[in-house]
Parts: sequence; C-alpha cells; structure tokens
Amino acid sequence: MTDKKILYIDMDNTLVDFSAKLKGVDPDLLKRFEGRVDELPGVFALMPPMDGAIEAYRELHTLFDTYILSTAPWGNPSAWQHKVEWVQLHLGLDKGTPAYKRLILSHHKNLNRGDFLVDDRPTHNGADRFQGEVLWFGEHGEHETWPDVVTYLKGQL
Ligand SMILES: [Mg+2]
Repeated sequence: MTDKKILYIDMDNTLVDFSAKLKGVDPDLLKRFEGRVDELPGVFALMPPMDGAIEAYRELHTLFDTYILSTAPWGNPSAWQHKVEWVQLHLGLDKGTPAYKRLILSHHKNLNRGDFLVDDRPTHNGADRFQGEVLWFGEHGEHETWPDVVTYLKGQL
C-alpha cells in the first residue's frame, strides 16, 4: 500500500517520440498507412524516448505511484508486444526497476482510478472522462516539455 498520489503516463508522443521513427520509413508505406501509422508492422519497437522523458519518469516514480497507461492499436498486434519491450529496454526488465509490472494497455483510460494522467491526446481513449486531472502534454498542449510536467507535478504533491 502507498499513500502517494496515483500518476499515469501515456506512451506515444508522451514517453515515446513517435515522429522520430517515421522519418526513416518508406514514403510509399507512409502513404498506405496514412492516418493510421501506428498500425505499421514493427514500427513501434525502435522509437526513441521523448527528450527528458526517461529522466522525468525516474524522478516522478519516486514521488508518485506511477504507471504507464497506453493504448496499443487494435489492428497491430505486434505493437502490444513492442510496447512492453520498449518499457523494459528503457526503464528496466527486473523487479525493482521503476516501471516493473506497471504497464497498462487500455482503450478505456477513464476506467483507471487516479490523480493525474499525462497525455498528448486528452480527448482520446477515455482520457476525456478520466476522473483525475489530465495534463495535456506536447507542443500543442498545456505542458510542452518534460521539465514543465515535472515542475507542475511537484507543485501538486
Ligand atoms: Mg499518446
């Protein structure tokens, strides 16, 4: 049991820099998968973290009861595998690592009880009905960078 506040963090374009990987993808394939690039086979596995995301996660996990709450595309089963592999690669595989057994894949983020959700898409996959506070992350959001998010959340402790 913990009395820390519960924090959820999205993956695509929040922890994971989705756009970076697409730069190397065949333009014809990009066209074929236009509007659903997250269904490109294997696209997820090698994407880099967003700037400062891993450092921020490591710090926040000491302050909050922190989970990764992501949606894997229904039409791309390999993404479900690649998401857990990504988390293990960047945050560790073993017991005691900060995201150990803390990855939740859901199309219904509103069903997760908690205090905060950091997400670049505040109206998708139930985020708009999340009962806690949604922090809109990214260049179009209210919190543009990871240091912004960390500063804000530390103020909410
Ligand atoms: Mg996202």
